[in-house]
Amino acid sequence: MDIEQSYKICPKCSSFFCGINEPDKYCSICGEELIEACLKCGQPITNPYAKFCKYCGEAYPGRIKTKNQFNI
Ligand SMILES: [Zn+2]
Ligand SMILES: [Zn+2]
Repeated sequence: MDIEQSYKICPKCSSFFCGINEPDKYCSICGEELIEACLKCGQPITNPYAKFCKYCGEAYPGRIKTKNQFNI
């Protein structure tokens, strides 16, 4: 059985991700602390491009951009 690769993603700028085993702790683009699991259900992030958690349907933070939300 394959172990699915999981990732850490930036919850703020959505421009950065890395493998779960990388030493990165903070986004190198915006400096936000990376998240390595769904904030709602705690399941790992197996697709760094996903916008929603596939286990509970919760949107990952920073993935869904609404209009006028580009101010830092
Ligand atoms: Zn970032
Ligand atoms: Zn979830």
